[in-house]
Amino acid sequence: MTTTLHYGPPYALEGLKVLVVGWGRSGQAAAKLCLREGASVKATDARESDAPADPALAAVELVLGRHEVEDFRQADLIVVSPGVPSGIPELRAAGEAGVPILGELELAASFFTGTPVVALTGTNGKSTTTALLGELFTAAGQKVFVGGNLGRPASEATLCGQRFDAIVLEVSSFQLETVRHFHPRVAVVLNLTPDHLDRHGDMEGYAAAKARIFERCSAEAGDALVLNGDDAHTAAMAEAAPCATHLFVHGAGRPASASIEEGRVVFQAGDGAVERYRLENPALRGPHNEANAAAAVLAGRLMGLRPGAIELGLQRFGGLPHRLESVRTHGGVEWVNDSKATNVDSAVTGLSAFAAGVILVAGGRGKGASYAPLAAAGRGRLKAVLGIGEEGPALVEALREVTHGPAEIVGTLEAAVERARELSGAGETVLLSPACASYDQFPNYEVRGQRFRELVEALP
Ligand code: ADP
Repeated sequence: MTTTLHYGPPYALEGLKVLVVGWGRSGQAAAKLCLREGASVKATDARESDAPADPALAAVELVLGRHEVEDFRQADLIVVSPGVPSGIPELRAAGEAGVPILGELELAASFFTGTPVVALTGTNGKSTTTALLGELFTAAGQKVFVGGNLGRPASEATLCGQRFDAIVLEVSSFQLETVRHFHPRVAVVLNLTPDHLDRHGDMEGYAAAKARIFERCSAEAGDALVLNGDDAHTAAMAEAAPCATHLFVHGAGRPASASIEEGRVVFQAGDGAVERYRLENPALRGPHNEANAAAAVLAGRLMGLRPGAIELGLQRFGGLPHRLESVRTHGGVEWVNDSKATNVDSAVTGLSAFAAGVILVAGGRGKGASYAPLAAAGRGRLKAVLGIGEEGPALVEALREVTHGPAEIVGTLEAAVERARELSGAGETVLLSPACASYDQFPNYEVRGQRFRELVEALP
C-alpha cells in the first residue's frame, strides 16, 4: 500500500520510504535532501559503485550492482536520476503499482519557494549560458546559486542552508522528463538539434521533453520564455507558450527582443528603449557565443538586472574550461583549448570563431561522422592541420585540400604542440578542436585539454 505524496510545496517527505535510483551525484544529493526531510532512504544502481565516503549518507541502505523489483514496488516515492532510462522494467513495475516517480530537479525545486528560478535548456551551449547568466547576477551584487546539470546538483541549493536571491539551473531533457510542478520565472531554450534520439524516439519527442521546461509558466505569474528565433524547432515553441515569449536572433531588423548585430547584443525593452552591449570578451567569441550571450542578456534583463550589471558581467565572464579556452598568448600566437569539441559539429563551431591563420590540432577516436563540414569551415581559415590519434590520418586527408600550408599526421598531442610552435607566427592561432572523442589516448576530454594546457604553459 503506497502513501500518497503530498506537495505543499515543498514535497512532504517525512516518514516516507524513498528509493533513489541511480547512485551518482544527483542521486546522492537527492538522498541527502530526503534524509534531511525525515524520509528513510534506500538507493540502487545497476552498476557496482563504492559505498559513499560521505558520512551524511551513512543512513542510506545501498543495493548496488543490481535492482530488486520489490524495492521499486514497495517504495512510497522513487527519485530517479537523469541517466536512468525511464523504460527499465523495474520503473515500469513501480509505475503500475502507483508509486510516484520524480526526478531530483523536481524534488529539489519544490524547496525553492520564494526564490526565483531561471532554467536553461537546449542541445548546445547550456553550460556556457548558465555560467554566463550566473556571472550577470553576480555582477549585479546578487547572491546566486548556479548548478543543476552543470556543477552542483539543484538539491545543493537547499542543502547548503544559504538564502539566494536567484537560482540559475542548467536542465537536461532527461531531467525535464520527470517534472510536475517545476516552475521557473524565466525559461530559456537555446536551440534544438538532433541529439539523444535513442531516448526520446524522434525530434518531436525530444522537443516535447524540452518544452516541459515552461509547462507550468503562466502569463498571470509574469513568467517569461526566451527562445532562439534563428532555430526553427525552438521558434515553433512560441505558439504553445503559456506566457510571454522573447526571441533572440542573429541579424538586424528581424522581430526580436534581442538581436546580434556587429558583435553586439541589441536588447529592445518592452517600452521600445534600445540597449547595446558590446561582446569584446574573448570568452564570448564566435557566433555560437553571441547567441549564448543574447540569451543570457535577455534572461538577465527579464529578471530585472540593470544594464550596468549586464555590461560588467559580460566583461568579467571567464568562460568555461575546454570550450575555446584561451590558454596563453606566446610570441603573438594564441593557444586555444577546445577539447570539449568531441564531435564534428562542435569543431565546426569552434573553428568558425576564428578568421584566417589557424593551426588546427584534431583527431582522436572517431564517431563515424563525415569531416566534410569541417573542411567547409576550414576553407580560408586553416593554415595547417596536425592530426593526432586514431582519426589523425582521416582528418588530415579530409582537410588537406582546404589547408594553405602543411597537413601532417603527428600522432600525439606532444608532437602536435611541438610542430605547431614551429609552424605558427604572430597573429595566428593554434586551436585544439579535435572533432573526436579522446578515449584512444586519454581517459576523457578534460584530461586531454589539461595535457594541452600543460604543454602550452611549458613552452619556453
Ligand atoms: P552544453 O552544456 O549544452 O553541452 P556547452 O556550453 O558546454 O554546452 O558547450 C559545448 C559545445 O557546444 C561548445 O564547445 C560549442 O562547440 C558548442 N556550442 C556552445 N554554444 C552553442 C550554441 N549556442 N549553438 C551551437 N553550438 C554551441
